[in-house]
Amino acid sequence: MNETIYEGSQLIQGGEIFRRLDPPARLSVFGEPVAHSKSPGFQNVALQFCRIAAQYVRIHIRPDELASALRSLPVAGFVGTNVTIPHKAGALLSMDEVDDYARMSDAVNTVVVDGEKLVGFNTDGPGLQRALREEFYADLRDLRVMLLGAGGGAGRAIAVQCARENCERLVLVNRTFEKARTLAQELATYFRSDRLVGPAERLEAIPHQESALKEQLAKTDLVINATSIGMRRADPPLIPAGLLTPNLLVYDTVYSSGKTRLIEDAEAAGARVANGLSMLLHQGALSFEIWFGRAAPLDIMREALKAAG
Ligand code: NAP
Repeated sequence: MNETIYEGSQLIQGGEIFRRLDPPARLSVFGEPVAHSKSPGFQNVALQFCRIAAQYVRIHIRPDELASALRSLPVAGFVGTNVTIPHKAGALLSMDEVDDYARMSDAVNTVVVDGEKLVGFNTDGPGLQRALREEFYADLRDLRVMLLGAGGGAGRAIAVQCARENCERLVLVNRTFEKARTLAQELATYFRSDRLVGPAERLEAIPHQESALKEQLAKTDLVINATSIGMRRADPPLIPAGLLTPNLLVYDTVYSSGKTRLIEDAEAAGARVANGLSMLLHQGALSFEIWFGRAAPLDIMREALKAAG
């Protein structure tokens, strides 16, 4: 596999280096950092399996290069690109058109080159939804959801998905409470219905504090972690272990080979758990479908992701 990390300048200067590869690079992930991205592994396997003469590469893009790099994609012969940290919000500003998910999430993770035009999509929310079906056989519309990290990029995309899927309840939790409250105001129209779930409000924003979590967990089916916390041993617990109960489903969007503290605590409490690898897989499969207008070879991609560890 091509492990090279290309630079944004190589794209901005016309992209000759990408056209010369065999097969030519016609897809990429833009990020800073970008070395850790698992997307090339499973996207390249999918391209080979589908006999598409193209490869998917990592490109290190600095924030001040983002707009020029995106504008260079048509000239360099790219089909499109994925966009990851920290460029998802910035990419939105360079798009000629965007889909509803990207507009509402204020972020683009998938770009399609359509002639000279750039069209932006966001597959994070729909990817999570498919992951929940696969992991828990559950649909957002049947669930009372507590979303930790609702004010972050991934959190916002997931909140939009929950709203559009008309989930039964949504509790937006964020360390910086103001972000959760603003998002709740933006999504309020989706929850103004006569759908009754008892005395509780269908949409609430709460600060990330133990007393507020405790009250809301009693009215929750699914906890989603969309904070960036959980990778390091020294990370604080997102939810005190004593508040986790066996009836909960717990989905941690963090993907790593090891278990996050939230997953460990939830498992110990008897809850059903899953980590973010399935979301990564499905958001990538959805990108593939958008680029090529055909189903992604999901099993092959899943195997490649598992093998990468
Ligand atoms: P982000 O925009 O930087 O957001 C980070 C979020 O974490 C914010 O809500 C932030 O709260 C919260 N946070 C940070 N430190 C915290 C702490 N000590 N206590 C409580 N909350 C804290 O990051 P992002 O791009 O949304 O990514 C978030 C996570 O999603 C990452 O772990 C990433 O790996 C994961 N993700 C997974 C997938 C997948 O496919 N599985 C896709 C996308 C993202 P404040 O607003 O208060 O700062």
